[in-house]
Amino acid sequence: MRRKTSETFKPSRRFKVLLTCLVPCAAALGAACIYWHAARDTPGAAAAAPAPLIYPRAAPTAVPPPVIAPAIAQQASAESTIEVIVGRNDTLDSIFRRMALDKSDLAAIRNLPGVRQSLDFLKPGDAVKLTQKDGEIKELSRKVSETQTLKVVRDDAGFEAKIINDPVETRIRTATATIDASLFQAAEAANISDSVALKLANAFAWDIDFVLDIRDGDRFTAVYEQIFQDGKYLRDGELLAAEFLNNGKVYRAVRFVNDAGDAGYYAPNGTPMRKAFLRAPVEFTRVSSVFNPHRLHPILNLIRGHMGTDYAAATGTPVHAAGDGRVSFAGRRGGYGNAVILAHSNSISTLYGHMSRFAKHIRVGLHVRQGDVIGYVGMTGLATGPHLHYEYLINGVHKNPQTVHLAGAAPLRADALQKFRVVTAPLLADLTQQPPQAIPAPGTGPLASEPPRLSQDLLRIPGPESLSIASIN
Ligand SMILES: [Zn+2]
Repeated sequence: MRRKTSETFKPSRRFKVLLTCLVPCAAALGAACIYWHAARDTPGAAAAAPAPLIYPRAAPTAVPPPVIAPAIAQQASAESTIEVIVGRNDTLDSIFRRMALDKSDLAAIRNLPGVRQSLDFLKPGDAVKLTQKDGEIKELSRKVSETQTLKVVRDDAGFEAKIINDPVETRIRTATATIDASLFQAAEAANISDSVALKLANAFAWDIDFVLDIRDGDRFTAVYEQIFQDGKYLRDGELLAAEFLNNGKVYRAVRFVNDAGDAGYYAPNGTPMRKAFLRAPVEFTRVSSVFNPHRLHPILNLIRGHMGTDYAAATGTPVHAAGDGRVSFAGRRGGYGNAVILAHSNSISTLYGHMSRFAKHIRVGLHVRQGDVIGYVGMTGLATGPHLHYEYLINGVHKNPQTVHLAGAAPLRADALQKFRVVTAPLLADLTQQPPQAIPAPGTGPLASEPPRLSQDLLRIPGPESLSIASIN
């Protein structure tokens, strides 16, 4: 799988090695786990404060190595232009010194009205273009924003500065991909960037468990912005609309900015995609066994009496609060090891077990918001490999976190809905104007001739009706 940062890549590689050791003894591993009912929590009313879209990713901060400008001793009278990439600790003064440029030119340029602030703030990786002759500056330019360039030109009267506007153009791209190995591989094959694939996964994070629910043949369509400048592709913009066909079920989401200025994803009927709980309380990109529908999950969920869902992940992988709530327990709890129990509204509680450690400040009574990090994956308690054990209970009764109905916010009303329909109609049309493809019913379609894939069916935890007292030990 393609990874953007080495931060996510390294643990997963390490984990692959670990998995190799784990798989053969997976059954023994599961059997060794002892699970029992979580404490009957007394849930408090959780504040329904809006949570940000989950799993924000830091923008990559790759800084190109500084270009050391060559000495300008040769060709004394020739005019030359060079683009200097700002290195760490570089200042304009040091660049001028290094290039043997006239420092009085720099002083004169700095004194031009309005120039200083757009000139002096240099970041590593910024580019400054300099044209000089005999060490005298003829021209200096640098981008001060995506669409604006500061240009200083020398003429007979001295230096003159101007801002050149170079607007960007937003184009809308619609692309469809079919998953046969992973979300990211499918996206790559369809020329969809990782950032767009992640936005798509975030938009559906309340409906689809991207760790365990993704199957061969799942298909997605993304309608998103691509930003161009001077006809050249610059970057991707917002994901505007998306469709995900998961296991025969179609989910659609469209981006909408409400009157308060908050952007979010909504179903075509105006219902927010955001729900009270995330499907998976770990970031799916950090889970090593993600999206391999061909492989059996190393920690078997078919163990009788297993009351939750296991997410195999490297030790230290952040664990997120599935919903807004209050910490009702944080500490050592027998076979669960280091566990956190959150009490949510509507008599719902969630439990997170085997953690290596808790997030700072986590203590009983603390209010957490959906997506907050509460701890880190580990293997404390009765676990022979690092994984998160996650339980979802209503009135103390275990429910399947992957399939339980999750309450969402109320749909948009009246005026907002009217506006929503107008704004989103063309985007939804883009979504649905994809080449028609039959939606295979479960058990049919291109994979129908294959035997049932264990990787999914075995991963389902038994519903509460299949649990008996004897199975909970
Ligand atoms: Zn478990």
